[in-house]
Amino acid sequence: MKNKYILLLIIVFTAISILAVTMSAIYVESNSCVGCGDCEQVCPVDAIQIIDGKAVIDAEKCIQCEICIKSCTYNAIRKSK
Ligand code: SF4
Ligand code: SF4
Repeated sequence: MKNKYILLLIIVFTAISILAVTMSAIYVESNSCVGCGDCEQVCPVDAIQIIDGKAVIDAEKCIQCEICIKSCTYNAIRKSK
């Protein structure tokens, strides 16, 4: 019986962790982006493209490493929670 509770706790904790990662996302505040391309250069998985002068992040490719956030001197890349 005790083992069942522990297993249930592990399942719930894992589900919450997965949900938290899935819900958070890296995004570009397009009003602040000047299209310099610095973020595109540093992204290790090529998830960023400059389209019509603005950075666009491919959420499917993004591994949420946050390197692009640090690279943007215009503070245009944010992380939602
Ligand atoms: S580094 Fe910042 S300003 Fe430059 S393209 Fe990327 S998001 Fe836009
Ligand atoms: S968080 Fe990392 S993987 Fe995602 S777009 Fe930025 S640099 Fe690329």
